[in-house]
Amino acid sequence: MSRNSIQLEMNFNGSEENLFRSRLESGEFQILAEIALPEGEISADEINGRYADFEYLVLGRKTPTSLAFTTENLTNTDPVLFASAICKTDRDRHLLYLSGRDHTKQQLFEMARLATGEGFKNFCCVSGKPLPGEDARKSSEHPFTESLCTLSELKENFEKTILTGAVVNPYKYTADALCTQFFKLIRKVNAGASFVVTQFGWDILKLQELRWNLFQRSCHIPSIARLLFLSQEKAKELCEGKVPGVQISPDLAYILRRELQYTRPQFEAAQIRQLQLYAAGARLIGYSGIQIAGADTPDKLEMLLDKIDEALLEFKDFNAWCSAFRQYYERLDMAPYPYRFYLFKNLLSSALPPDPLPFAEADFTTCTGKEIFRYHLGKLLCGHAAELPASEKRLTKKLLFSCKGCNRCRLPQTFYICPETCPIHRANGPCGEIRVDGTCPFDHQQECIYIRQLRLVNKLRCYPALEEDVVPDGDW
Ligand code: SF4
Repeated sequence: MSRNSIQLEMNFNGSEENLFRSRLESGEFQILAEIALPEGEISADEINGRYADFEYLVLGRKTPTSLAFTTENLTNTDPVLFASAICKTDRDRHLLYLSGRDHTKQQLFEMARLATGEGFKNFCCVSGKPLPGEDARKSSEHPFTESLCTLSELKENFEKTILTGAVVNPYKYTADALCTQFFKLIRKVNAGASFVVTQFGWDILKLQELRWNLFQRSCHIPSIARLLFLSQEKAKELCEGKVPGVQISPDLAYILRRELQYTRPQFEAAQIRQLQLYAAGARLIGYSGIQIAGADTPDKLEMLLDKIDEALLEFKDFNAWCSAFRQYYERLDMAPYPYRFYLFKNLLSSALPPDPLPFAEADFTTCTGKEIFRYHLGKLLCGHAAELPASEKRLTKKLLFSCKGCNRCRLPQTFYICPETCPIHRANGPCGEIRVDGTCPFDHQQECIYIRQLRLVNKLRCYPALEEDVVPDGDW
């Protein structure tokens, strides 16, 4: 479905009403039913045939429910036209994802402008990720605009007329990998994110860890837990490690393999119960809502929404939920052994963060002499590189920092670790797909450059540098 196949009805009335924002602000728990933009292109007729019932299904439900339009697939479909074709009324209740993959900052701004004209007011900015099986070379053929850049662009241009959010992957199990994700999240909040949606996963301790960490940082933004309703096909992919950025524990893989032996209805019943437990648990530990992925037909969505409503009624007390959860999971270890770092001890001992927070001991990797030497050499030789033409001292930068020759040198902002050495050119922190041992998904021999950066920051004790200014792109 392309933009010239449909006439946009622009409405620049700039009304301040925003149902999604009001619910977040009032603490009313809400459900977002995820609709992924279909692969390739889709006609207006197909949209009406396949998706027309989704809007009707989410209206007037017991638990406030809206739609979230995500951009996981390789699609040629325009997200604004797609969402506009499905949602006829109250578009301020829904959430639109803006993906940086294959889009420049200007294109994303234009998309947001058109969407606000159509009445959408809530956006979740993502950088976009490589598709499964895509290698570094293929991936670098696609421009990615980092969510940080989109967030600050939208904040500057729309001020308070829209609400922007960001995503985070809390399912990291080493001190280094987890802290780099948290630092990046705070940077997103500083750049304009007013709410956060998690990557999907199955470790409720990690969901609570995120809430407690935001609390200890006095960062009181609403969080939405993304939960996946697993199909048998997706469960197989998970067990085979084929879902980028999601690594499950051997215990969970064992349970899923066992469930895969069941008949399809039995498998589905097991997944429904799990979804109920996670949905109720997320509400009890302070999440403002959940986003349900995997409900790809109206019938399935309706059934899941009914089941979630039941669970929210069933579990109103944290202790009762906790014992049901523990009974169901029989002490299952959700951490992918041998990596099992949690920032706090005694998670799930209470719904709210205890005072004082019981920090666990963190085992960060430490800087090598070579890393420190290279940093100081960089400071000495290239300390002013950001103010000089990028071509200046190119050979020195190439020899010392593997400079790839972009048009905007950011070495002084990135601790002299060139962001262009990241296969997908992230300049503001790690992607969510970083592997559990801290290596890069594109090259298992290479450590993520942001783990190296964190080591320097730990040594130099200059944490604000990881949270404040947005590092621009390389201006190729
Ligand atoms: S270097 Fe880090 S941020 Fe870049 S792709 Fe690899 S894991 Fe992701």
